Amino acid sequence: KPLVVAIDGPSGTGKSSVSKAVAKQLGLAYLDTGAMYRALAWSCLDVAIDFDDGSAVAEHSRTFDLRMGMDPAAPTVAVGTRRIDREIREDAVTSVVSRVATNLDVRADMLTRQRALIAEGVQHSGGVVAEGRDITTVVAPDADVRILMTASEEARMARRSRQLRVSAESTRSQIIDRDRTDSTVSQFTTAADGVVTVDTSHIDFRQSVAAVLHVVKE
Ligand code: C5P
Repeated sequence: KPLVVAIDGPSGTGKSSVSKAVAKQLGLAYLDTGAMYRALAWSCLDVAIDFDDGSAVAEHSRTFDLRMGMDPAAPTVAVGTRRIDREIREDAVTSVVSRVATNLDVRADMLTRQRALIAEGVQHSGGVVAEGRDITTVVAPDADVRILMTASEEARMARRSRQLRVSAESTRSQIIDRDRTDSTVSQFTTAADGVVTVDTSHIDFRQSVAAVLHVVKE
């Protein structure tokens, strides 16, 4: 029986690394939907699309050749044959990604792409762990397992700055800014009905993986 696991949450909760580990352990595909918005932002920068031109951004979303590799041991992101795994994590992309993600026509296009990728994961791997901001509510509200990962602001800042190897202060303002913009399109601070909250403020990576696996097995 196919298994779809939907995991939402803000950055700094350990969502991505935990989702990847869970997918690996369960032998499922892994879909990082944030990487898709990042890929679009990267591609808009690459071909110099004006972020203020919403319809141009949406048109680019519908037509660019986004390719997501869903192996949890080595997930990949490419536009055409160009691999952009590293590029999409850079500041230049992080600082503009919310601008494409708040575009409703972009979100409609991403929804179509994400559902197709989830179907592909179900078909080829017997299921998928899909993570993002609106997976439990919009993309896969009928998923077998729906989880919201949360963490105190303090814990999230600490994780992000460790990850980015910069001072906690500069990440702090970055995270707060991005959360503010993100929350205008998706409400990820409170769990929707039937969504199980996993709070990672006081548990480490291994415990977070165990907590998610526990919810899956319930
Ligand atoms: O998770 P990550 O930080 O890579 O996500 C990058 C951005 O993509 C988020 O800040 C948010 O603007 C957007 N996003 C979204 N919906 C999702 C996943 C990500 O709007 N399902």
